[in-house]
Amino acid sequence: MLQVRDLSFGYGGGVTVLDALSMDIAEGDVVSLLGPSGCGKSTILRVIAELLEADEGDVTWQNIPELAFVFQDPALMPWATVDENVQLPGRLKGKIDKKAVQDAMAAVGLSDMGHRFPAQLSGGQRMRASVARALAANPKVLLMDEPFAALDEILRFQMNELLLDLKKQRGLSILFVTHSLYEAAYLSDRVLVMDRGQIKGEVKPDLDRGTNAQDQRASGAFTSAVAAIAALMAEGS
Ligand code: ADP
Ligand code: MG
Repeated sequence: MLQVRDLSFGYGGGVTVLDALSMDIAEGDVVSLLGPSGCGKSTILRVIAELLEADEGDVTWQNIPELAFVFQDPALMPWATVDENVQLPGRLKGKIDKKAVQDAMAAVGLSDMGHRFPAQLSGGQRMRASVARALAANPKVLLMDEPFAALDEILRFQMNELLLDLKKQRGLSILFVTHSLYEAAYLSDRVLVMDRGQIKGEVKPDLDRGTNAQDQRASGAFTSAVAAIAALMAEGS
């Protein structure tokens, strides 16, 4: 679905941030990017979303899909209700798809909260609203930049389940930046470990999605995936 080939990028001043980076994402896959702070994770998302232009290399989509971004900061407008916040992408395009907004609110479990203001939501609900706003554009691909990093572990686990549900129900492809080896191992079809603007290696967790969350998190496949990611991160550093 997406091919990234030999992508190089710098913000100027001769510093290379992305260094001939290549990667692929297949349709319907959750792919995590993991790596030390400053290695270029947010930058590669921005180049893929065409918010930044690469100096060299190519980003090729099979069919250019609708993209949506989710950041760590839910960035809801405090003066607008949750419904109005979720309608914003549609409003900016000049066309509000009421059904898509309703479906998005239902998908994140906020159907009864649409009339509230962001300050009247919990941290987890605000993140759900942020995900609903992304879904309201009916994207095929979600680009997520450390979306759950500020949530406590229990909320983060809930958001992880929500994301796997969305992937299943909507056939979403997801490129997911995280600092957590555990989150990457749990969510991903593939984990790409990044270092200094390059992909250092890849781990395929291969959890048994037919079993429940607890069993998956307790499984040997999960433990070996976390160990393999940790080993890859430590390599040569
Ligand atoms: P990560 O998301 O992996 O922490 P980033 O992609 O945000 O890393 O940043 C990669 C490098 O680019 C870092 O050295 C960072 O300081 C630099 N950088 C990020 N954004 C900018 C910017 N807008 N202008 C200049 N340098 C930047
Ligand atoms: Mg970042």
